[in-house]
Amino acid sequence: MAKYDFRGPRLFVEAPFVAAQEVVIEPEQAHYLRNVMRLADGAEVLVFNGRDGEWLARISTRGKRGATLRPERQTRPQPEVPGPTYAFAPLKQARLDYMVQKAVEMGASRLSPVLTQFTQVGRLNMERMRANAIEAAEQCGILALPVIDEPVPLQRWLSSLPGEVRIVFCDEDSETRSPLEALRGVNAADVAVLVGPEGGFSEEERKVLLARDNVVRLSLGPRVLRADTAAVAALALVQAVCGDWR
Ligand code: SAH
Repeated sequence: MAKYDFRGPRLFVEAPFVAAQEVVIEPEQAHYLRNVMRLADGAEVLVFNGRDGEWLARISTRGKRGATLRPERQTRPQPEVPGPTYAFAPLKQARLDYMVQKAVEMGASRLSPVLTQFTQVGRLNMERMRANAIEAAEQCGILALPVIDEPVPLQRWLSSLPGEVRIVFCDEDSETRSPLEALRGVNAADVAVLVGPEGGFSEEERKVLLARDNVVRLSLGPRVLRADTAAVAALALVQAVCGDWR
């Protein structure tokens, strides 16, 4: 059996959870529980809001289409240790949807879109990114929803980083060397994994990044990976070597 129930109906709800204090849910959530999951009054639903852990709640239908949820008890605490930041050059829609979902499943605590020289995407749909993050969390029973930053140019992102953050720079031009060695002594909670766009990083960006003392250059092997593949590979290495997979 898995560590927790990720099969039952699970819903992200914006409200704070207090035992027995009913929460009105969105019409489309009411529709999902009543008509798709066909839950009757009193049925159990697991809810999370990204702050109060996971709670068991019971549904009450309201009128023809509404519903409320009454939290009963906390079933899992909110995880304390924040996961790594995932900083990325935005990709085109379908790959970006995929990448956001994978970053959440891999335990990223912050998603930071970074505009690099070869980034091919202009406007970012923040609502869509948030919806993808919530969907991945609901499907996998993840309680810590990542903070999603507004996109900023690479230089501004670099200068805004707190001093203790180590940038794990996924460099497609790096010679192949052990990622385990490169990540030794790093703490995932202080890591910002950085992955470039479809066109990779420019020479200028590489020079700026490698000149910084808070940068760990990471090779993801002898082949060039697609950016969305690199996201999963890099986050898996960080979580396995210095994160919550240990
Ligand atoms: N043209 C492909 C690959 C572009 S490289 C695409 O369309 O996605 C995209 C980013 O993935 C790079 O900037 C780098 O951050 C990461 N990456 C890919 N292969 C890598 C490797 N072997 N080592 C380190 N990072 C890699």
